[in-house]
Amino acid sequence: MIIEPRTRGFICLTAHPTGCEKNVINQIDYVKSKGKINGAKKVLVIGSSTGFGLASRITSAFGSDAATIGVFFDKPSAPGKTGSAGYYNTAAFEKHAHQAGLYAKSINGDAFSNEVKADVIKLIKEDLGQIDLVIYSLASPVRTHPDTGTRYKSVLKPIGGVFSNKTVDFHTGVVSEISINPAEGDDIANTVAVMGGEDWKMWIDALKKENVLATGAKTVAYSYIGPKLTEAVYRKGTIGAAKDHLEATAFSITNSLKDLKGEAYVSVNKALVTQASSAIPVIPLYISLLFKVMKEKGLHEGCIEQIQRLYSERLYTGNPMQLDAKGRVRVDDLEMREDVQAEVAKLWETATTENLSEIGDLEGYSNDFFNLFGFKVPSIDYNAEVDEMVAIPSEH
Ligand code: NAD
Repeated sequence: MIIEPRTRGFICLTAHPTGCEKNVINQIDYVKSKGKINGAKKVLVIGSSTGFGLASRITSAFGSDAATIGVFFDKPSAPGKTGSAGYYNTAAFEKHAHQAGLYAKSINGDAFSNEVKADVIKLIKEDLGQIDLVIYSLASPVRTHPDTGTRYKSVLKPIGGVFSNKTVDFHTGVVSEISINPAEGDDIANTVAVMGGEDWKMWIDALKKENVLATGAKTVAYSYIGPKLTEAVYRKGTIGAAKDHLEATAFSITNSLKDLKGEAYVSVNKALVTQASSAIPVIPLYISLLFKVMKEKGLHEGCIEQIQRLYSERLYTGNPMQLDAKGRVRVDDLEMREDVQAEVAKLWETATTENLSEIGDLEGYSNDFFNLFGFKVPSIDYNAEVDEMVAIPSEH
């Protein structure tokens, strides 16, 4: 079929298999071009099909020749209906990993459930024995608690008062004022239940209990801080409360892994266009200004550049890990540079519908958004017929 993007707000309902494969190939080529990393050899990535998780899986496999197991929640294709981008990405990743002689198997299901944890543990026991790196990169709006069956929904709200600021509709370029009402009732607790650290700890506890974590195993989860501009809706909002909880969980996991000499870290990453970040009001305007400034200064990075740097310059340098005052790994250093933030803050003041395409990188934002789904990828012929029915090799 001929596949075109069909968008609804910050969601794209279709995905292009050849475009997704090309994105994966580009990421593989980037990692290979940077040379080998002396990293973990048996890696579990939870949230492995898009964004930072996919970049982590690719960096482990093609930077360190690692065997990888990926866990994600994605829609397979059906006749006449495309699969989700994460599904096509995973099919492409496995294909290229297998061609390179690398072990790669994937489990498509709800990572918050006990069943998926049990399936993963069974697979590790059968195929790999023990794991030495666990990347935790889930981004989800909902979580069903595996013990109680309660379904929690996360919200993106400020805490304590209404937050009003500018935002942009990145499809139309219209800049407008948005007011977001503060969290109420159980909003904060619900968001912490979905995006906080409880499930990360449950994973590590389950893996340890079944003796599938190797001595010296590391686990890393991803967080974000960002600037004053977005603080009210991000870091000091409901999602920030969840990130505080995630960051605190790193210490309790490290404690629980003492006998294995294991370590848990949170890496604070840069703001990037992913399915998760497109959904947060105000952030798309910030990102389009940030990208403009970072590209002009030659500092721009995507998911793969971020994660390749995280592995090669932070996690696997052979030296003690450099951490910030709160014990976090930082690869948002370039985003948070004073000169970058000062310029973004200045541009923010003047940003309007009329000038955004000039002072911001709206085009870059929009391209990145469509790229997430395999569209607008250079060298792909979108007028050509493609087979929407792509299978993930390890599922068959
Ligand atoms: P993403 O939406 O691209 O990826 C999320 C992954 O989680 C996908 O593989 C998806 O299949 C998987 N997933 C979601 N729900 C699942 C479930 N129930 N079971 C199994 N898999 C499930 O997200 P991302 O932007 O790469 O975010 C990953 C992490 O990085 C998050 O913790 C996010 O807060 C953090 N982060 C993101 C940014 C950013 O700007 N995007 C910046 C810093 C940190």
